[in-house]
Amino acid sequence: MTVITILYAILTMGALGALFSVGLSIASKKLSVEEDPRLIEIIDLLPGSNCGACGFAGCAAMAEAILKGDMEPSSCPVANSESIEKISKLLGLEVKEKVRNVAVVLCRGDRKNQKKKAEYIGVESCLAAHLVGGGERACNWGCIGFGDCVDVCPFDAIYMSPDGIPVVDRDKCTGCGKCVEACPRNIIELHPINRNVFVLCKNRDNPRLARSVCSAACISCGICERATGGEGFKVIDNLAVVDYEKYTKEPILPTDKCPTKCIVIVGDPEKEK
Ligand code: SF4
Ligand code: SF4
Repeated sequence: MTVITILYAILTMGALGALFSVGLSIASKKLSVEEDPRLIEIIDLLPGSNCGACGFAGCAAMAEAILKGDMEPSSCPVANSESIEKISKLLGLEVKEKVRNVAVVLCRGDRKNQKKKAEYIGVESCLAAHLVGGGERACNWGCIGFGDCVDVCPFDAIYMSPDGIPVVDRDKCTGCGKCVEACPRNIIELHPINRNVFVLCKNRDNPRLARSVCSAACISCGICERATGGEGFKVIDNLAVVDYEKYTKEPILPTDKCPTKCIVIVGDPEKEK
């Protein structure tokens, strides 16, 4: 290889390198997308837990959707009202009041109240037990007790009582709904924090069967419905349900009238008004 050939190769490579770098720098200028600085501010104002309860992959994706106007600032179930207000103001939107949702476990079938039907030897998971006969507790509608709901909570807001029923810490609960999804018995629901009266049972079997498996089951006696004149409580398919549109504390709060005490005040009505 002669010196001229080497020089020729160096010059060719140098010219090509210069050409590509000019092309790349023009392309980067032309194709670059200006990032809206508000995006970072919205990301900072969202909780950063990336819990996915909003349906997006994480808080950054949710922030982008809020910035584009595809989602409301209040759509993050976990963000507190102060953050929602700040995001709304940042985007020049009307500030919408948000009542925080919290999880409520609609069952009192712990180890004391629910009968045992079998010995369960298997994976200690509610879902696994549910799929292979329902675990060891007798009620087919009630809590299985292995705490799948506790395991999934990203906020440490739900724990098992000594008698094996989940208890929600309403101060810590963000209403993300992970426990609702995890429970194979569908006994956990999200409700506004200012809702305090609940029927803690989901058993829709006939009264005799319901009572035979759990001493705290609703026996569809209808006392609550009669006590409220049908305005607030109704028995539907063997189960008392609260009609929150109609329910008022006056004239009668049927908590103490329920023979199995499955109508319960949850939380602190004074504090959570
Ligand atoms: S208790 Fe349920 S809804 Fe509340 S933070 Fe935990 S997983 Fe979310
Ligand atoms: S996931 Fe459902 S069945 Fe399992 S412990 Fe929680 S409430 Fe009970």
